[in-house]
Amino acid sequence: MSRIFCVANQKGGVGKTTTTVNLAAGLAQIGRRVLVVDLDPQGNATMGSGVDKRSLDPSVYDVLLESASIAEARRPSPKGGYDIVGANRELAGAEVELVGVDRRDKRLRGALVSVDYDYDVVLIDCPPSLSLLTLNGLACAHGVVVPMQCEYFALEGLSDLVNTIKQVHANINPELEVIGILRVMFDARITLQTQVSEQLKAHFGDRVFDTVIPRNVRLAEAPSYGMPGLVFDPASKGAQAFLEFAREMAARIDGRHCAA
Ligand code: ADP
Ligand code: MG
Repeated sequence: MSRIFCVANQKGGVGKTTTTVNLAAGLAQIGRRVLVVDLDPQGNATMGSGVDKRSLDPSVYDVLLESASIAEARRPSPKGGYDIVGANRELAGAEVELVGVDRRDKRLRGALVSVDYDYDVVLIDCPPSLSLLTLNGLACAHGVVVPMQCEYFALEGLSDLVNTIKQVHANINPELEVIGILRVMFDARITLQTQVSEQLKAHFGDRVFDTVIPRNVRLAEAPSYGMPGLVFDPASKGAQAFLEFAREMAARIDGRHCAA
């Protein structure tokens, strides 16, 4: 049975996609069977996994509209070591098309049941909004991984996300919880970042992952080569940090650190 995690934060450019593809590659390297679901119409996780978003047929859009199964829509990431259900601009239309249908927030949940035994971990890359797409992700997840930059306004957005998670927990999916906050694009030379990092620790305790992902240009370069940074330059500081994070996640999933 797979454990399902959303990588979510309603802000754009905070490192969701980078976290998703590198965590997927890291978990694959330590022997886990991983599926990535791209729920962002930008299709960055798809392209960053080496799958051309223009050539998807079917895509996650068809899965949400129940005209294709996950087994039909998944593709192997050529270098990543995991499978991915890709997304492209078509997905933006799903938001509107799903409004009138029943179980509109449970479409992905329903689809994932059929591959429950194919994967140890499913990672869902959410769009930068608290939309029906994100809701589909939250409705099937056991936990949410929240990547955060340690900046002044970062904490503000967090309360909206935490409230949404609470509502989904209460109304749709009682299994859902914030598994952890991941500090990303971290630069220890910047005093403010160190301060915000300390505040996060004080407020969220062990819900803040021990691993910190540094700002590292190799992680930013990797997507244009169609692979996660962890594969593109395994010796880089960013890759090393994501491998460490994959180990930390695996330990949490196995229940050695806290319930997930
Ligand atoms: P999101 O999915 O939340 O919009 P991305 O993962 O696409 O965010 O990251 C936004 C930008 O920051 C991208 O250009 C990405 O390559 C870059 N980036 C993400 N994490 C890092 C990092 N640790 N170091 C350097 N650049 C990063
Ligand atoms: Mg993204």
